[in-house]
Amino acid sequence: MNANQNEISAEIQDLINMAARLISSARCGVVLTGAGISTPSGIPDFRTPGSGIWSYFNPMEVASLSAFRYQPEKFLTWFHPLAKKILQALPNPAHYALAILEKAGYLQTIITQNIDGLHQRAGSEQVLEVHGTMESLTCIGCYSKYPSEDFISSFIYKGIPPRCPDCDQILKPDVILFEEQLPKQTWLKAQKACQTCGVMLVAGSSLEVTPVATLPQRALENHAKLIIINQSPTYLDSLAEVRIQGDVADVLPLISQAVIDD
Ligand SMILES: [Zn+2]
Repeated sequence: MNANQNEISAEIQDLINMAARLISSARCGVVLTGAGISTPSGIPDFRTPGSGIWSYFNPMEVASLSAFRYQPEKFLTWFHPLAKKILQALPNPAHYALAILEKAGYLQTIITQNIDGLHQRAGSEQVLEVHGTMESLTCIGCYSKYPSEDFISSFIYKGIPPRCPDCDQILKPDVILFEEQLPKQTWLKAQKACQTCGVMLVAGSSLEVTPVATLPQRALENHAKLIIINQSPTYLDSLAEVRIQGDVADVLPLISQAVIDD
């Protein structure tokens, strides 16, 4: 037991038990994760002003598709510290707790707004990355796709921009920028998962970025129970069966333990 777990109040423990019962009885769960599940791994919420990543740039000015096309170097300068943090980050207890619940058959799908790949590194298999991934790059000239590993360390440690071996254009990480459509097949799968689940767990997302923030509404329309664990309020708090204000790295391991022990 670490200090944080000792601080769990009786009230929070009741909510954890309620959440665990919902997950156990539904046996068909979907999770939506946001930046809050990766901040305990040291990755700043790159959409939040004041998180450090935004100190020098307005995200709309650098992290949009048109900005990338006109000034890819400026995008890469902005992206560099985030990419470095992601490369060095490790999964935290929240990621592992979800992987345990998936292996035990309680979770069918993890939908994530994160691009860091930490769910997969923790052992989760059914992960839908609706905001794209750092794992691959696409040429903005000829649309060839390349695995990131061929380019990432020279970019991170030597500052060499990734360029297409065929046409020498700068390669764009396959992360979804402002103005870009979500990956279509992934988005369709995410919607379907939300229409068929018995319980939906929102973990570490403030539900502010659309269209992903509308997914829990789909689950509610299809009579799923909603559990929300997040530090700050969300627009669906009043419709949640269980609402826990807290750090997902503290709360999720306790929920998964309670489910497994049930
Ligand atoms: Zn190319």
